[in-house]
Amino acid sequence: MSRPTVAITGGAGFLGSHLCERFLAEGHQVVCVDNFLTGSLANVEHLMAEERFRLVRADVSLHLVIPGDLDAVLHFASPASPTDYLRLPIDTLRVGSNGTFNALELAKEKGARFVLASTSETYGDPLVHPQPETYWGNVNPVGPRGVYDEAKRFAEATTMAYRRAHGVDTAILRIFNTFGPRMRPFDGRAIPTFVRQALLGEPITVAGDGSQTRSICYVDDLIEGIVRLCNSDLDGPVNIGNPHELSVLALAEWIRELTGSTSEIEFTPRPQDDPTVRRPDITLARTRLGWEPRTPIEEGLLRTIAWFRRHQPSWRAEEAT
Ligand code: NAD
Repeated sequence: MSRPTVAITGGAGFLGSHLCERFLAEGHQVVCVDNFLTGSLANVEHLMAEERFRLVRADVSLHLVIPGDLDAVLHFASPASPTDYLRLPIDTLRVGSNGTFNALELAKEKGARFVLASTSETYGDPLVHPQPETYWGNVNPVGPRGVYDEAKRFAEATTMAYRRAHGVDTAILRIFNTFGPRMRPFDGRAIPTFVRQALLGEPITVAGDGSQTRSICYVDDLIEGIVRLCNSDLDGPVNIGNPHELSVLALAEWIRELTGSTSEIEFTPRPQDDPTVRRPDITLARTRLGWEPRTPIEEGLLRTIAWFRRHQPSWRAEEAT
């Protein structure tokens, strides 16, 4: 057990809750900090009985104080789906800026390793394909998506400043599209939207002609990459994602087939600055962390669909409110 106490901001979200589970399973103490802006208590309720788990309800953009020793601070708090950050533009900028300062100050005070959850969105609509970490990106700072992309780019710059100016042991992780259980059916991301629509027999809404590509990684693989990064001395940025690239239309058709649905595919307007292609170059993660994705996409999709089926009554109730 190399890092016995970890603090995870955004720990009650989709990825954060899987991280909490994983660190607990490894015997760590886990402090989950969340204000439930886009996450929920339901994601971590099953962990509350564990004495090594502590939930702190706080807005990390305002302050972040955790008594006692910490070995690692993983900064995952941020609205992450386009629907969320377009609805919450100021909160997104604040958590990427003030929240990152607060999380870095905490790591500095405790002498803890700091891991920033950055994103493939820092590459924007990329002109280099696949994207290596050395590519600086093609981001529109004044477009609607700029609130998320630029918040993360600012967070990366802040992280590097704390490393250089204060010697904080930092790492930057660029996460590519990840999917799995606990995604919210109405969060606007492609996979939960397609699965929900397919299960309800509603039209599956594909943006544009669906030829834009995404590379999707099953959540367990991503979590393994994060844990390896946390336990390494790599500073990054490092891409963690699955290079398996497919068009959004192919993804919609695949999900329709796996759910046994007869939903029609319906084409809708493409959002502004929607990336045309996306695929990580994972050479760095392979060579320095010995990491690569292991879960076949179909298996990940089947597990995700099974989870959505099991939780259908609760998300139908959410839809009704
Ligand atoms: P999520 O919305 O499920 O989780 C984010 C969590 O942060 C939520 O629980 C939310 O309540 C919390 N939060 C937001 N603002 C907060 C604040 N000010 N104070 C305290 N808590 C706050 O999203 P996710 O998909 O789990 O993403 C987690 C992180 O990973 C984000 O930083 C996101 O940018 C990054 N990321 C995710 C993906 C992906 O595919 N899921 C891809 C790239 C990057």
